[in-house]
Amino acid sequence: MRGVVKRFGALEVLRGIDLTIERGEVVVLCGPSGSGKSTLLRCINGLEAIALGEVIVEGEHVRSKGSKLDTLNPRIGMVFQAFNLFPHLTILQNLILAPTMVLKVPRAEAIERARALLARVGIEQKADAFPDMLSGGQQQRAAIARALAMNPELMLFDEPTSALDPEMIHEVLDVMRDLAHEGMTMVIVTHEMGFAREVASRVVFMDEGLIVEQAKPDAFFSKPREERTKQFIGKIL
Ligand code: ADP
Ligand code: MG
Repeated sequence: MRGVVKRFGALEVLRGIDLTIERGEVVVLCGPSGSGKSTLLRCINGLEAIALGEVIVEGEHVRSKGSKLDTLNPRIGMVFQAFNLFPHLTILQNLILAPTMVLKVPRAEAIERARALLARVGIEQKADAFPDMLSGGQQQRAAIARALAMNPELMLFDEPTSALDPEMIHEVLDVMRDLAHEGMTMVIVTHEMGFAREVASRVVFMDEGLIVEQAKPDAFFSKPREERTKQFIGKIL
């Protein structure tokens, strides 16, 4: 991202974001509520049109075509706080929908791959269940598997555990940790600072639409430079 400015009417929500993420990096994005974290993620996959600057993914300019999910770059997977599974489809149907419709993967092949992904996130026995029959943690693991079914190059997570009961947070973080260890490029908005410390290659701290500070997790948590970062860390640790 170079010089990215995003406005909602008169409100400037991103005020000049420069951010380069290398392949294989796991970037944890943190900052106070309203600082622009979700908006930044949404600019990476073209869900939001920007006013100024540029967003380039894998050498290609991201141009927003509005928030229609089927026009998004299929190489960028996104996982939201509120699972967003299609409630009228089974878990397996949720996983094969985009691969068959968007990537034109043959149905049998999509099903085989979906089952493998469900096994990978530990819910293969839920393939024929509907989302509301699953716990929150299981639904979020299904949502991650659904994103992976598109074979993404980059995964964006927007507070993936914030809506979960404490005992379910770990099962989702475990799946994300495995993904990180397999080399997936990830940008994760989260308040799980233990996870950030352990898994992130870099922590980026935002406030009021700007990147205030970024560092490797050890340095970020043990010797933050900026006053605003110190205050934030003091509040959440
Ligand atoms: P964060 O994810 O860090 O909490 P957001 O990116 O959601 O922050 O929001 C940043 C700011 O942009 C907030 O002031 C929020 O109210 C505003 N905002 C976000 N989305 C919209 C929208 N669709 N229309 C108007 N304002 C918005
Ligand atoms: Mg947000």
